[in-house]
Amino acid sequence: MRTLPFDKSKLDEIAAKWPTPFHIYDAKAIRENAKRMKKAFSWNKGWREFFAVKAAPNPHLMTLLKEFGFGSDCSSMAELVLAEKVGNTGEAIMFTSNDTPLAEFRKAWELGAIINLDDITHWDALLEAVGPDADFSGRLMCCRYNPGPLKGGNAIIGKPEEAKYGMTREQLFDCYAKMKAAGARRFGLHTMVASNELDPEYIIDTARLLFSLVVELREKLGIEFEFVNIGGGIGIPYKPGQEAMDLEKVSKGVRQANDEILAAAGARGVKLFMECGRCITGPYGYLVSRVIHIKNTYRLYAGLDACMSNLMRPAMYGAYHEIVVPGKENSAETSVYDVTGSLCENNDKFAIQRVLPVLERGDYVVICDAGAHGHAMGFQYNGKLRSAELLLEADGSVRQIRRAETLDDYFSTLEF
Ligand SMILES: *Cc1c(COP(=O)(O)O)cnc(C)c1O
Repeated sequence: MRTLPFDKSKLDEIAAKWPTPFHIYDAKAIRENAKRMKKAFSWNKGWREFFAVKAAPNPHLMTLLKEFGFGSDCSSMAELVLAEKVGNTGEAIMFTSNDTPLAEFRKAWELGAIINLDDITHWDALLEAVGPDADFSGRLMCCRYNPGPLKGGNAIIGKPEEAKYGMTREQLFDCYAKMKAAGARRFGLHTMVASNELDPEYIIDTARLLFSLVVELREKLGIEFEFVNIGGGIGIPYKPGQEAMDLEKVSKGVRQANDEILAAAGARGVKLFMECGRCITGPYGYLVSRVIHIKNTYRLYAGLDACMSNLMRPAMYGAYHEIVVPGKENSAETSVYDVTGSLCENNDKFAIQRVLPVLERGDYVVICDAGAHGHAMGFQYNGKLRSAELLLEADGSVRQIRRAETLDDYFSTLEF
């Protein structure tokens, strides 16, 4: 079973102030992880991680990551505003959107963000958004490549040729040529073909693919590339027995590819960018809930005060999340449970047929690896309210970084 950064008595203390369910993030572990990642890629002088804001859109977490120079990967108006609020502006923002509203292109432009075009038609949309006289000469411009059948599939994103993101090879050449003709001089190349990937080779292969493409684009179009963004999608070991991605191995492989492909072709000093979300905060966030009912029918059910609106990965992807019962970690008495929430949807289950310590009403149930794509994917279906987010500081103190929603919040948009 996982070791938590808090025990039952600490939870009693926290829950007396902020009732369950809540999400809690471990600041110390997030910092240590960020430091490790930065160190792993230190050979690349311009290396930068742009934290995928959608994974955990909380300014306190973004600020914490900013300590390590992490920028923001944004794909919506709200995410752009969040980045701006924490002081990530200009080229600390990578704006990687798709099906982009013009107002968002305008906002990204005003902030001086690196604009990453998802489609060849978005070039015209961008011109429409920022006006025909916009000056591209100092702007860092990027295109998102979809390698199609050149790259094998991945469980969450699927096969690249069935994915809605990015441009074909032909469109890519076309788009850079158009940007160059419009006066753009500074370029980057991007792709994002993985999600929750644990194999270092998959990420290294992606880098190789992009590096080779950069060499071709340079030669054919006579443009230089400042960066290559290999995307996010680095996985975390949700299941027992899985191993965390070996970042040193990824780094070594990418470095070798850099030397063999880019440097060999005379493209030196190309910066390596990443835009991970999951592996940055995922393992360091916990959904803390309590058992409110034990039900014994055709199966044994543990009903929690949290539901899939607090964490929808299990219901949405059938995702596995470790569950820990503080105070009963070493209990020899176990039963097999379906661990449920209260939504009127039968897929509202955090775990199915899971062996857990024998549960009673009032027990804490901690769902692990909820720190990315957890609270962020919350919703209000069935009138469920979004929970609070708390930050466990290195000194053991706890700070609320988002309050829980109230019924007044829920009703605030209604015309009564
Ligand atoms: C979701 C997303 C990310 C982050 O993905 P993780 O799996 O959380 O690392 C990065 N870039 C883009 C464009 C995304 O859509």
